[in-house]
Amino acid sequence: MVLQRLQIGGIQDVTAATSNADELTKLAFDHCLFPVIDQETVRREGPRIYVKGEGIELTDLAGNTTLDMMGSHTRANSLGYGNREIAQAVFDQMTAVHYVGTTSHFAEPTIRLAATLAELTPGGLNRVAFTSGGSESVETALKLAKQYQRESGNKPRAYKTISRWNAYHGSSMGALSVTDWLAVREIFEPRVPGHSFIPNPTRYRNPFDMAEEAYFELCATYLEREIELQGPDTVAAFIGEPVMQANGVQVPSRHYWQRVREICDKHGVLLIADEVITGFGRTGSWFACEHFGLEPDILTMAKALSGGYAPIGAVITTDAIADAIPMLRHVHTFAGHASAAAAANAAISIKRRDGLIETARENGAYFGAELAAALENHPIVGQVRGLGLWHCVDFTADRATKAKFEDDTVSVIVERMRAHGVLACRIGTALEMSPPLITTRAQLDTAVEVCARAVNDVARERGLA
Ligand code: PLP
Repeated sequence: MVLQRLQIGGIQDVTAATSNADELTKLAFDHCLFPVIDQETVRREGPRIYVKGEGIELTDLAGNTTLDMMGSHTRANSLGYGNREIAQAVFDQMTAVHYVGTTSHFAEPTIRLAATLAELTPGGLNRVAFTSGGSESVETALKLAKQYQRESGNKPRAYKTISRWNAYHGSSMGALSVTDWLAVREIFEPRVPGHSFIPNPTRYRNPFDMAEEAYFELCATYLEREIELQGPDTVAAFIGEPVMQANGVQVPSRHYWQRVREICDKHGVLLIADEVITGFGRTGSWFACEHFGLEPDILTMAKALSGGYAPIGAVITTDAIADAIPMLRHVHTFAGHASAAAAANAAISIKRRDGLIETARENGAYFGAELAAALENHPIVGQVRGLGLWHCVDFTADRATKAKFEDDTVSVIVERMRAHGVLACRIGTALEMSPPLITTRAQLDTAVEVCARAVNDVARERGLA
């Protein structure tokens, strides 16, 4: 059921239902801006308009049903579509008291959620500031770190931050400033002053053609070098995604994160783990930090916190950091929104009750093994890798040199999968899949089969295999 505009007494009414695809497409072109996709592509392919979701299946206006292996495109949807328990929890909260404001104005679900997050997150993380999404969480974390360094008296001059090549931390100016995706960053420069980038640990390819472990060592050593170069007294924080999404699921070694932790401790630099994409089961644990025994000083989250059922994010830090700050000088109107918190509480309860983190780990291992068995020896596949229910196929035009495809081969494979009913995503040199945690093994099998078919067909058509 979709909405149609009707003229009633000169006032536009949007309550009558129709499935008028042409009209909706025109309205979308007339009135919507399409973020991070060029207008020409949308004009050519049309906006994707969906009318129904159930489990991990999405149905569009034309009645086509696809398996959503991308968690609603953004990886936020970790519990699939049509979850009535979450809907009921939100309905109950909305009809009790939907929203009460910020500062010290709370409703019960927000306080309960803070306590649950303190329980679930690693180490001594205990005190929560809420936001409405990932960029706001990163923004809050960076400001919290700077404020702590100043108001604790530890480093009154510290205003600098460090992140890594290929990092994505969000779109707001602070989060964008620590982001290394030129396509979204360049036009808005100059960035917030005082930020620098260092090499990031990557699998399969790295810029110096080094062996993986040696390269990871270089990445960690580079952090210490950069802190010394900037002047340790001026560096407030280092921020990194425990597992980076750039070019597909970059899982570093435990040793890498242990060394980063040691270096941050040595120089009084706060370590911010950005778990916006990895949190709440994506990697087969509540938080990806757990895989590396990493205890950050600040951890950011959003996306799957509510399973995508409500826009909500959060930042959690230690008592020591929270207590050093007389007043957090940062707020967002909808921070800790009661109904969004109710959605998050319900999403977390369902994952706990149904053992979905364990399922993600077990089904993820199965999925990874099947994907590798189907594709890792293919002439255009460089590596198949992943963690939990987050996997990618990293492509190469030449297995000997690991050369990237400079043309549209990877995008065409993703498009071919969509034509065969499976939604995946291109992420740089790789194809990524990050399905909801409720995805069944039969659905994972279908995704593997369709992916292998798309790779084989496109490679054959282009004379690559
Ligand atoms: N941090 C990470 C690691 C992300 O992956 C993202 C979004 O993809 C963000 C921050 C920004 O989150 P949002 O889009 O909710 O603002």
